[in-house]
Amino acid sequence: MVDTRDKKVLELIKRITCGERRALSQAITFSESTRKDHRDIAKGVLSKLNNNNDKTVRIAVTGSPGVGKSTFIESFGLDLINKGLNVAVLAVDPSSVSSGGSILGDKTRMELLSKERRAYIRPSPTKGSLGGTNLRTQEAIILCEAAGFDVILIETVGVGQSETMASQMVDVFCLLLGPSGGDELQGVKRGITEISDLILVNKCDGQLKNIAETTRAEYSKALQFFRRREIDAPSYPKVLTISSIEKSGLRDTWKEIKNLITWRKQSGMFFKIREEQKLTWFHREITNCINLRIENSEKILKKKKELEKKIRKGLTLPLNAAEKLALEIIR
Ligand code: GDP
Repeated sequence: MVDTRDKKVLELIKRITCGERRALSQAITFSESTRKDHRDIAKGVLSKLNNNNDKTVRIAVTGSPGVGKSTFIESFGLDLINKGLNVAVLAVDPSSVSSGGSILGDKTRMELLSKERRAYIRPSPTKGSLGGTNLRTQEAIILCEAAGFDVILIETVGVGQSETMASQMVDVFCLLLGPSGGDELQGVKRGITEISDLILVNKCDGQLKNIAETTRAEYSKALQFFRRREIDAPSYPKVLTISSIEKSGLRDTWKEIKNLITWRKQSGMFFKIREEQKLTWFHREITNCINLRIENSEKILKKKKELEKKIRKGLTLPLNAAEKLALEIIR
């Protein structure tokens, strides 16, 4: 049994590192699975791959539905491919995002990019995750890097928690906004703006151009009042105007991303961020392992139900019950 698993693991690693898409997709599917045999294969594969690849660039692209994320990723991704880079996209599937999603749920997203040999697009599962980012996205990043992708774009929809999670997996966090004058300034969740490295005001074209420029100016001004982070290079975070349709501002976007990464590498921040991210991953996994332990043990589940009953009746405090259950888990 173990032999077959080991064989499968080695075979997958070989095929993934040769850049075989089907093997990559299969490994991501195993990683996302809740079946123990699948997870064991995924863990086997991941354990043997390099998770310290500092040559790759991991970028989050976030923003409300309709702001132009998939149009941006398609244009930006094609630009990067033209520079000779391999681009992987871990994308939100708009039809499965409950928070509004895209009204164009049935349209083919990133049609041109998906035809490129140097591109790989993988829709995120939304099960157990908000806006498409979850614990397994981290594993998909490592798998894509092993398959030879230089740039990993992670798309999320602006629903708070998924942004925080995405920011804990990427080197650069990009927030896409629409041209809306200053009115929206209050509306955009401050938390998201605070974790952004680049704010891209999209749709800076045609009649929207002036209003996009105003939005850029107002956000630039607002950013001056934000607390500087240790990881901020001088003059970052920055606000740029772009048009994903006219493909303007995309080169500048890449230039800014590269500048920021160079600064962070020279200052040691790049490695510090990735180290911290690994610890965050570890901490999330601890919680995940404990939850799995509870779910997979009838004895512990029974004890949990008993304690829940007692809590409802006011016979025990939640904190005491939690301690009792924790003792049961480590026993
Ligand atoms: P998403 O939901 O954030 O992925 O947004 P989409 O990429 O699906 O774009 C939503 C709408 O905005 C579509 O009708 C796009 O054609 C339009 N759009 C996207 N980028 C631009 C742009 O740069 N300029 C203009 N004028 N429209 C854009």
